[in-house]
Amino acid sequence: MFCPFCQAPDTRVIDSRLVADGSQVRRRRECIECKERLTTYEVAELLMPKIIKRNGTREPFYDEKLRAGMMRALEKCPITAEMFEVSILKIIQRLRSTGEREVSSKLLGEWVMAELQALDLIAYIRFASVYWDFKDIQTFKEFLDQLQLSPHSAD
Ligand SMILES: [Zn+2]
Repeated sequence: MFCPFCQAPDTRVIDSRLVADGSQVRRRRECIECKERLTTYEVAELLMPKIIKRNGTREPFYDEKLRAGMMRALEKCPITAEMFEVSILKIIQRLRSTGEREVSSKLLGEWVMAELQALDLIAYIRFASVYWDFKDIQTFKEFLDQLQLSPHSAD
């Protein structure tokens, strides 16, 4: 976009982050010519689909719930705040791009797991163990075997 200070034809994005519960993207820009900085906000025109919970009830999509759940799984994992934001943004974009009015929490959970698997395997296992609510150690072992890990600690 144009620089509002010197009218140079281009500005460079130096930082991008989600704000307002993930409904906006705030970008810090710097003019390539005069080096002045400005902030822009990007808001999607589409509404987010509602989430169909396991018990069949619907609720609005809450960005903070997604963050809290992923944060809990990623506790003490070696990932940067930026990697975290990118993952959150990917899930939100995926949700938005469905064009559906409602999306099941099951599908949302699978997208979260796909992101966690790419970020950190331990976080993925933590989240999956809560998500699938393993009833016994055998089911959990089978899950770990699928990941081609050797769960010696469960022996
Ligand atoms: Zn400028």
